[in-house]
Amino acid sequence: MDFSLTEEQELMLAEVKKVCKEKIAPRAEEVEREGKFPKENLKLLSDMDLLGLVIPEAYGGLGMDFMTWSLIAEEISKACGTTGLSFGANLLCVYPLMTFGTEEQKKKYLVPLAKDGVGAFALTEPEAGSDAGNVKTIAKEDGDSYILNGRKIFITNGGEASTFIVIATTRPNKGARGFTAFIVEKGTKGFSVGQHFDKMGFAGLSNVELVLDDCRVPKANILTQEGRGFRVAMETFDVGRIGVGIGALGVAESAYEKALQYSKERIQFDKPISSFQAVQHILADMATEIEAAKLLLYEAAWLKDNGKPFEKVASMGKLYASEVAMNTTVKSVQVFGGSGYMKDYAVERLMREAKLFEIIEGTSQIQRNIIANYILKGK
Ligand SMILES: Cc1cc2nc3c(=O)[nH]c(=O)nc-3n(C[C@H](O)[C@H](O)[C@H](O)COP(=O)(O)OP(=O)(O)OC[C@H]3O[C@@H](n4cnc5c(N)ncnc54)[C@H](O)[C@@H]3O)c2cc1C
Repeated sequence: MDFSLTEEQELMLAEVKKVCKEKIAPRAEEVEREGKFPKENLKLLSDMDLLGLVIPEAYGGLGMDFMTWSLIAEEISKACGTTGLSFGANLLCVYPLMTFGTEEQKKKYLVPLAKDGVGAFALTEPEAGSDAGNVKTIAKEDGDSYILNGRKIFITNGGEASTFIVIATTRPNKGARGFTAFIVEKGTKGFSVGQHFDKMGFAGLSNVELVLDDCRVPKANILTQEGRGFRVAMETFDVGRIGVGIGALGVAESAYEKALQYSKERIQFDKPISSFQAVQHILADMATEIEAAKLLLYEAAWLKDNGKPFEKVASMGKLYASEVAMNTTVKSVQVFGGSGYMKDYAVERLMREAKLFEIIEGTSQIQRNIIANYILKGK
């Protein structure tokens, strides 16, 4: 495995780091405080063509690999977790279109997504979370269309997206084998945004209920085939887990860098607190765990880019990085002492944000189930 960067990657990354430092990071507190979807940040990314980073050039994207996507998403997440998660959720719409879309679908939906579109992926429902095979949203055939009825919850980017991938059942008696993935456009009659969820963290991220009420979707908007929706969802989540892990990594790195800096500045007993071995050990553990999480996630991206099985390592990376983000942010608050508990410093926000990564795209328990399944099969 070789994680060394090409000159092109180095240049792109340097440009992204500059924009993150000068423009995106300074807005992170405001995004949280005002619960404001980070439109300006996404516009900056769109101006740099980064929304189409992995979209093939033929459809207006840059046609880059998942390693480059990961490195860039890591920088964005380090600067502003909300912008990082929105960027990651976009991939959940782009990736299935790239992988399963027809030529016509790719031209129609990927081209605007590569430019400045926001995408979303909707599977979760009140009775279908970890139990992803329990989707109740129903799609009934009607001439050259399907009529969709049901509701989705918690959907990231849902209030802002132009294009949605919606999982519904076309054969309710067949379980997950009856699922179909539909491309649904914002503004389709019978498709609306319901409740906006109020969250522990990531106040600026759009997480909404989607209501499908006799929503007519043409058959031409089925991704791959009728009955193949569960496969679409599972393959999307395999890649999405790299994205969620990278988001967690960015949050962990941000918390670590802030703790390191603060430990050198905060004086107690006439010395910087970084001179105390107890504090040094906290920092050493943070740095070690972050490095290990990074390597797992880069390995998953490298395996994916090189056409090798990456799914188990993607789950391991997501599981480990999300737990590292939780540990690191808690420890970072500890290094800041009382100040860490105050809203004046970003670390309390990072601690609230970190929890989400242990839940989305399969909880830590579900990741362990997936990993155990692979290793017990000898894979
Ligand atoms: C902010 C946010 C954004 C999200 N964005 C999206 C999105 O864009 N699109 C989308 O489709 N979904 C999205 N989700 C949904 C998310 O993926 C689910 O919340 C998650 O998969 C867990 O499902 P659940 O909430 O129903 O929890 P449950 O499945 O009810 O789980 C509750 C607890 O039971 C445990 N548990 C359940 N089953 C098992 C089992 N078999 N073995 C061991 N433990 C188990 C879980 O680990 C967890 O601790 C989002 C959620 C949040 C909070």
